[in-house]
Amino acid sequence: MNNTVLNDAESLEKKITPTIIEQSPAAKLPTPFGTFNIVSFKDNLLREHAAIFMGDLKNSDSPVLARIHSECLTGDTLFSLKCDCGFQLEAAMRQIAENKTGVILYIRQEGRGIGLFNKIKAYNLQDQGLDTVDANLRLGLPSDARRYEICAEIFKALGVKQINLLTNNPTKIHEIEKFGIEVKNRIALEVGRNKFNTGYLDTKEFRMGHMFNHQQD
Ligand SMILES: [Zn+2]
Repeated sequence: MNNTVLNDAESLEKKITPTIIEQSPAAKLPTPFGTFNIVSFKDNLLREHAAIFMGDLKNSDSPVLARIHSECLTGDTLFSLKCDCGFQLEAAMRQIAENKTGVILYIRQEGRGIGLFNKIKAYNLQDQGLDTVDANLRLGLPSDARRYEICAEIFKALGVKQINLLTNNPTKIHEIEKFGIEVKNRIALEVGRNKFNTGYLDTKEFRMGHMFNHQQD
């Protein structure tokens, strides 16, 4: 093991403020929902983020439809039903494609910022009956370690100043506004509730302040 390599939780402990250091040129990204443009951003923690977008973001007269999506390997890529991440990502892509303008920031802060390895350790504790908050706390990790400085930097790099944000998480709104991006409207993104994640979604609502209307219940 190389002790000089920091994982997400360690970099958080060391209080390193993430900042973008490099931006790629844009490329086309065809998807089942339509063709997006994709740009990648490197940060000072050696993480590589992505923004996918449609339309002319810089010259938009109205607030840009936007989602800040934190990486979830299990949900986004492996079809996990344990959370709602994959469903939210797909719904956001569909909505932006229908709207013909909008942006998704895909931020590499896996497991609400604790990293994949720690997330799987927390899943193991959840299999033993702990909820998502208590499992993280048992491991000595914060229940939500995500940070939003780089999201504001990426929005600004893309020329986005005002957004309509697709989220159920009020913390995201406060955080992104703190770093200079105005959230004109919150648009709920309630998708993918199932028998495996209903407890998780309830924990996000009652212990983490997420807003759900339970329209699907
Ligand atoms: Zn997830």
